[in-house]
Amino acid sequence: MNDWGQCRSLTERSLTAINFAFPEKSWEELVAMPIGGRDQYLLAMYEICFGDSIAGVSDCPRCDEEIELTIPVGQVRSADAAFEPATISVNEGQYQVRCRLPDSSNLLAIAPSQDLEEARRSLIEHCIVSSTYKKKTISAHRLPAYVLKAVADRILQEDQQAEMLLEVHCPACNHAWEIHFDISYYFWNSLTKSAGALLWEVHVLAKAYGWKEGEILAMNAWRRHQYLKQVNA
Ligand SMILES: [Zn+2]
Repeated sequence: MNDWGQCRSLTERSLTAINFAFPEKSWEELVAMPIGGRDQYLLAMYEICFGDSIAGVSDCPRCDEEIELTIPVGQVRSADAAFEPATISVNEGQYQVRCRLPDSSNLLAIAPSQDLEEARRSLIEHCIVSSTYKKKTISAHRLPAYVLKAVADRILQEDQQAEMLLEVHCPACNHAWEIHFDISYYFWNSLTKSAGALLWEVHVLAKAYGWKEGEILAMNAWRRHQYLKQVNA
C-alpha cells in the first residue's frame, strides 16, 4: 500500500484497499456501492489477511473500565447486503420519502460525529432524493424523527450490513451498551500494524546483513522470519 493512504480519510483508505484487491472494480463503482456491500468486501479481505477474529477495545461509559473485545468475523457479517445502488420509497402517514441506499460518497460528504444518532440522521438526510408532506415538497431536515426511523429501518431491510451494532457488557460494573462496529477502522488498523511490523523487519535485516529494502521485500515471509530468528538468537 502506498504511503499516501496514511493521510486520507478512513472511507477513502477502505476504498483504496478494495480497489487494490479487486482492480476490476472501478473507483466510481466502489464509491457508489452501498455501505453494506462495501463492508462485506472489507470483511472478506480482513479474514484473508488477518484471520476470523477481530480484536478491539471499548471504554465503559459508566465506570471507564477498558474492555478488550474479541469479535468473531461471523458475528459482524450479515446474511445479506446490497452491492448495487438502489432507491427505496417509504410512506409513513402523510409523509412520502424516496431515499438512496447510503454509499461511500455520502460518508465522504457528511461531517464526522461521535454521536451515533446525529451521524445516522445526517447520513440519511444526505441520501434523501425527495420528501413530501401532504403531497407538498418539504426539506429532508424537517422530517420528524419517526419518519427518519422508518427510512432507516427500510434501508436496513435492503442492506442489512449497512449498520452493524455490537452489544458490549462491562464485567466491572455490569453496564451493557451498544457500539457501532466499523470494519473500515479495524481493517485499516490491522493493516497499519502489519505494515509497521514489516518495516521493522526490513530495518532489522538491512542493518544486520546489509541487504537492500527491495531484496528483503522480495523474500517470502517464512524466509524473512528465519533470518530474523538468526539475528535475534
Ligand atoms: Zn463499567
